[in-house]
Amino acid sequence: VTVLGSGSSGNCTAVSSGADTLLVDAGFSAKEILRRLCAAGIDSEHVRAIVLTHEHTDHVAGVRVLAKRLGVPVLASPGTIRAASLQSFVSDTRALSPGEEMNVGCLEIAAFATSHDAAEPMGVTIGTSDGEMLGLATDTGVLGEEAFQALAACTLLAIETNHDERLLQNGPYPWFLKQRILSTRGHLSNDAAAHALERLAHDRVRAIIGMHASRTNNTAALAATSLETALTRIGLAIPVSIARQDAAVACTLT
Ligand SMILES: [Zn+2]
Ligand SMILES: [Zn+2]
Repeated sequence: VTVLGSGSSGNCTAVSSGADTLLVDAGFSAKEILRRLCAAGIDSEHVRAIVLTHEHTDHVAGVRVLAKRLGVPVLASPGTIRAASLQSFVSDTRALSPGEEMNVGCLEIAAFATSHDAAEPMGVTIGTSDGEMLGLATDTGVLGEEAFQALAACTLLAIETNHDERLLQNGPYPWFLKQRILSTRGHLSNDAAAHALERLAHDRVRAIIGMHASRTNNTAALAATSLETALTRIGLAIPVSIARQDAAVACTLT
């Protein structure tokens, strides 16, 4: 799993197994995503599909050009397909609703509902034939029961650690934006992610990645400390890394 970049200025994560790569979100320009793939040593020829979590610009900015350039299908929920007008500019659009599964090469992708101010947002799990499973949940104000069930079997958890609540409350954002982020359809805080981890982490989880960290209302150290403290509370030692906006963070399970 290579998080090519994560945050409100762009999101794209590459998940590879064997000769198949799946991209989750395409929130940078196509040129920038191709540049980051190349820098991470991932062959763009191996990309089989792009899956979109929701229609916000930081998740879809490059999808039009990238899907055409790579000649791959775009998977998204019916609500995202409509809200992003995908069918008007992506030739191969495939609906993947929360609760459904789809095979892409040797990867098995399943979607679950998230809670965000978008048309039909979702998180995904991506399983490999050798029993590893990534769970990716970002841009969600809360994790619902469906999300917890989907994430329970994952061996690699990529969970949103968007903000430190105190930094957000005392920070420069206007009131309405603070309310939006803090709402149940906003973004997950470090503490909320840590609480979720106490329920989701188990001894088969091999790595945890904090996602979509705000550059204004968070720091990598605060996000990592929250998650690590939660792991200590439940007696598990699992490596934690925090995804970055401007550089790739990779996690390899062998
Ligand atoms: Zn986002
Ligand atoms: Zn969003």
